[in-house]
Amino acid sequence: MRILVTGGAGFIGANLVRACLAHDHEIVVLDDLSTGNLDNLEGTDVSFIRGSVTDATTVRRAASDVDSIVHLAARGSVPRSLKDPVATHEVNATGTLNVLEAARLSRGQQVIMASSSSVYGANPELPKREDGATRPMSPYAASKLAAEGYAIAYRTAYDLPTLAFRFFNVFGRFQSAGHAYAAVIPSFIDAALRGETLTVHGDGTQSRDFTHVDTVCATICQAIDSRTTSPDPINLAFGTRTTLLEVIETLSSKLDQPIVVENVENRVGDVPHSQADSSKLRDLFGDIDPVDFSSGLVDTIEWMRSQFAPRSSATPLSTGSRAA
Ligand code: NAD
Repeated sequence: MRILVTGGAGFIGANLVRACLAHDHEIVVLDDLSTGNLDNLEGTDVSFIRGSVTDATTVRRAASDVDSIVHLAARGSVPRSLKDPVATHEVNATGTLNVLEAARLSRGQQVIMASSSSVYGANPELPKREDGATRPMSPYAASKLAAEGYAIAYRTAYDLPTLAFRFFNVFGRFQSAGHAYAAVIPSFIDAALRGETLTVHGDGTQSRDFTHVDTVCATICQAIDSRTTSPDPINLAFGTRTTLLEVIETLSSKLDQPIVVENVENRVGDVPHSQADSSKLRDLFGDIDPVDFSSGLVDTIEWMRSQFAPRSSATPLSTGSRAA
């Protein structure tokens, strides 16, 4: 099949493109390179279109001859959305509407889109069930809720085969560090590898359902191959719960070095705890075997090390694994 991956030059996109190529699909990437990078696609054979999902004409052109669309392009980050909520809405909500409209007006292709666990926001229920309340705590979360609302509406109103996945905290190769909006795992690894102090917002007891990117890509590939759609959003995480303190402890043990932490104040818009109810995911994708947190972390450390330090000078990693 020919697959359009919007945001294909970003973290999850770069992994997904490789996973789809391994499934013998042809790939078209549409990306404006705002946070993504062409280097992430080095060595892959893809058709690349530089453009924005906010440009309906470009999206229609990119979608015209594909069999499926995986829509990952977005303006990520809660703090970035607090700075400029309108820009976040335009890319995440209107951009998704453009993608759905392009599919409706061309060949009625399957659209798989990336929503986010942040839509649960202030809902304290654990684990988070898809039919639980959505209480966005940031413009980013609200934009993702709008986007998945459109995906579901297009399925109902136009019979468009859509599937909205609520990603939890995804981590792994190609996730960038060293910038203001970097995610927690690459930021921690980057600081630890440089021997710098780790900055922790709050006391570190906040918890997340960390999901390795290979698990996310395997699930999306299966959804493409099986043409799966759903009338409801689906949590894409497997119900684990790891605190930031546990992440730091595991990192310290894998690197075999002490880690110094500085606690700073909590960030506005950050949810305290996140953990998926994975029943619906398991019903649809019963044979996906998630990568456990510990081995996913080792894989990510190895990749990040390869990006900035010669492997020969690195301390070997401890590969003992902990159930995720
Ligand atoms: P990323 O920033 O690495 O990738 C996003 C990609 O989209 C980048 O390549 C960027 O250049 C591109 N992009 C941004 N605005 C665009 C626009 N207007 N037009 C075209 N391309 C544009 O982020 P990621 O972590 O790979 O996230 C992928 C998707 O998954 C996003 O929709 C994100 O909201 C969602 N998500 C990610 C996580 C996570 O933990 N990484 C969690 C929940 C949801």
